[in-house]
Amino acid sequence: MELETTSKNFIEQIIDKDIEEGHCEVVKTRFPPEPNGYLHIGHAKSILLNYGLAVKYNGQFNMRFDDTNPTKEKEEFVDSILTDISWLGAKWEGPVLFASDYFPKMYEAAVTLIKKGKAYVCDLTASQMREYRGTLTEPGMDSPYRNRSIEENLELFENMKDGKFPDGEKVLRAKIDMSSPNINMRDPIIYRVAHITHHRTGDAWCIYPMYDFAHPIEDAIEGITHSICTLEFEDHRPLYDWVVRELEYENPPKQIEFAKLYLTNVVTGKRYIKKLVEEGIVDGWDDPRLVSLSALRRRGFTPESIKMFVELVGVTKSQGSVEYPMLEYCIREDLKLKSNRMMAVLDPIKLIIDNYPEGQVEYFDVLNNQENEELGSRKVPFSKELYIERDDFMEEPPKKYFRLFPGNEVRLMNAYFVKCESFIKDENGNVTEVHCTYDPATKNGLNFTERKVKGTIHWLSAGQALKAEVRLYENIIDEEKGVYNDDGSININPNSVTILKDCFVEPDFAKAKSEEKFQFVRNGYFCVDSKDSKPESLVFNRIVSLKSSFKIN
Ligand code: ATP
Ligand code: MG
Repeated sequence: MELETTSKNFIEQIIDKDIEEGHCEVVKTRFPPEPNGYLHIGHAKSILLNYGLAVKYNGQFNMRFDDTNPTKEKEEFVDSILTDISWLGAKWEGPVLFASDYFPKMYEAAVTLIKKGKAYVCDLTASQMREYRGTLTEPGMDSPYRNRSIEENLELFENMKDGKFPDGEKVLRAKIDMSSPNINMRDPIIYRVAHITHHRTGDAWCIYPMYDFAHPIEDAIEGITHSICTLEFEDHRPLYDWVVRELEYENPPKQIEFAKLYLTNVVTGKRYIKKLVEEGIVDGWDDPRLVSLSALRRRGFTPESIKMFVELVGVTKSQGSVEYPMLEYCIREDLKLKSNRMMAVLDPIKLIIDNYPEGQVEYFDVLNNQENEELGSRKVPFSKELYIERDDFMEEPPKKYFRLFPGNEVRLMNAYFVKCESFIKDENGNVTEVHCTYDPATKNGLNFTERKVKGTIHWLSAGQALKAEVRLYENIIDEEKGVYNDDGSININPNSVTILKDCFVEPDFAKAKSEEKFQFVRNGYFCVDSKDSKPESLVFNRIVSLKSSFKIN
């Protein structure tokens, strides 16, 4: 028992206590995104945390769009967000919920506050309001409109709703305390006039509630027990508590804050991703260099790898950035036993076996994954003309180079030993063909013990190989120089994508499905690009290379 308690995160400890003390019967959590952009890896943490708690405590998880600010919200984002959440495997209870469905209840709540003398209509302009608000060290001043009568406030608020005032002329404010040390409590605005069409309610409303007022009401209406949000809302918690207290909800929800997830050298903020998309710096929200969930999916990350990552990072209250290589570690771990290991040559040169019969093709049975025989095997063609990687041959090898060079013998993976006899260069001095002889006795090389070779290289039979495009990615941000330039623009790494157009892959890839993941032996893990790949012109994204210095301690 002891051990179990200590391994729980701080939120689970709070929930345990609430259950123990009888404050909560069924744990209810929610994920409340604003539909103003695509979800990113940080949101995945919040989704998996909220959904995970509901599962762990046999409770309920709600999916709710916090669509109370019509300026930036779009239906397009609603669809993409639902796709991403389903992809992650989080299952919500009942229908998808929308905060905008609660607009009538929020309006009533505001009227309730007015009737209690806890809210008033204020005519101060935005700049006057700023002056009256005070500073961190000085208290604010009461608005001259603070003592309007309840009747007058009720009438003015109704007129606000009925469209009698232009944007910005009047607001509804909570009447709390202008001298509070917490600025959020200095009579915050709870409703504003905004003549904007809402993506769901259309023109039904021309007043919209502010987030700090709307959110606790949304939670309370749904019976959320633990409203989990990120640290920047810590200072808003007294206001959250004030709203649910003044509105006298039974079993009010409790706000709990945790630290946002940040990754080094990637752009996580929705705002910044949006900027990259809008400025055309990246190829849409799912550009594989981004860490939006749609981009990670297109790049080849799996929901399992993201889950593992989020679990490794853990839930804390202390802010910090997580190293991107940790995410890479997780996808390698996940794909290691799941994906077929195939041969692909990214920078091809011809290897010709001079003593192999012209026109002959033989087939080798090759296990799809040497560490997981359940993935079966396939037949790989072999012939006189092969492709190998350009850097698997060197005319003048340095020390410890064990691959092909004149006079050296290597193992062709799963096939024969070949010995380099000669090579041909073009007029620019680039090697175009490597000529070898093979030893038929070394077939399926691994059982051949008479002599040893130190190098093993991969290859493809030129006549059967399929042409493919391969995209290699690096961080989108230039690591050396930091995320932002002096002028505030984002510092893009000019080498963030390298497109290789003349690659070759095994003929078996003709069967590859969109988003299918593979290991290209010696080259990394790759995914069939869901946008651009076609059976007759394959396109692969490199998810991650095979090796890393990252270690889990
Ligand atoms: P961004 O700052 O990227 O624009 P946001 O907080 O504005 O994100 P919302 O749609 O309001 O985006 O977020 C929905 C939920 O996801 C909120 O509960 C928010 O706290 C959480 N969330 C957002 N970013 C992160 C993050 N980096 N790590 C963990 N949770 C996050
Ligand atoms: Mg937000």
